[in-house]
Amino acid sequence: MQFTDSHCHLDDVAFTAQLPQLLAQCQQLAINRIIVPAISPKNFDNVLTLAKTHHNKPINIYPCLGIHPWFLQGLTDIHLEQLTALIAKSKNNIIAIGEIGLDGAIAKNAEAYGQTVEKSWQHQQHFFDYQLNIAKEQNLPVIVHHRQSHDKIMPFLKRYKLENAGIIHGFSGSYQQAMGYIDLGFKLGIGSTITYSRAKKTINAIKRLPLSSLVLETDAPSMPLSKEILNKDELSSIDGNKTNTPANSPINIIKIFNVLAAIREEDSEQIADQLESNIEQIFFNSFRIESSVKS
Ligand SMILES: [Zn+2]
Repeated sequence: MQFTDSHCHLDDVAFTAQLPQLLAQCQQLAINRIIVPAISPKNFDNVLTLAKTHHNKPINIYPCLGIHPWFLQGLTDIHLEQLTALIAKSKNNIIAIGEIGLDGAIAKNAEAYGQTVEKSWQHQQHFFDYQLNIAKEQNLPVIVHHRQSHDKIMPFLKRYKLENAGIIHGFSGSYQQAMGYIDLGFKLGIGSTITYSRAKKTINAIKRLPLSSLVLETDAPSMPLSKEILNKDELSSIDGNKTNTPANSPINIIKIFNVLAAIREEDSEQIADQLESNIEQIFFNSFRIESSVKS
């Protein structure tokens, strides 16, 4: 069995010191591909450089470029124009636009940032719309962040009908919401949410969804797994806070996979194979990628 972490912020400083060891661990666990979304203009270069350094190494690292709704403060159309130019220049290297999206909690807290709720939505929607447009023009998939925003995201995705769709990252929600995205060609990023037994609605949805619509992700170093599934050593390193261990790491893909396999009816091999071919389908099947890999 082979695995891909479809969403990991591997350029985060939390990983810098231990990156070689971490990648060696990934290799041992057959986590052979890590997809790294960008979050703001501040990390574009880091993400591109990280991926370049690891191109065709045992672990392939694939970069994405995009601006996350959490990091829009102070950003204007100038930044979107710069992003457009950088994407055009990096077209043969990046595999998606991301992470982009809409976040209802950010909008609700807008006053803390000196904005109204309405202005925050407008700002977020402008950036989301603009970046979907880049994806359409460049024929790239998107990696979509959602939080309290399914109803606002859906009309955008319906309008753009992206050919390569993309991933609804860190999916949590109902079966109906999931099927809405799947009908538009999207895959759902399955991460630490399913390790929390309280996430009943999401777990029940993932149990019933077509296997062809799921991919694995950690979102590391964010989104720690539930303590319910960690072993004693892992728990003591978190509770004691003795080490500088990041709260989450790409090696947790295996734990998430095991939880998914326990939820699903299919056998583990079949699940792992299908998850990998889902990744192939979104990111590596088009002529664009084949030609870029050769060049
Ligand atoms: Zn993320």
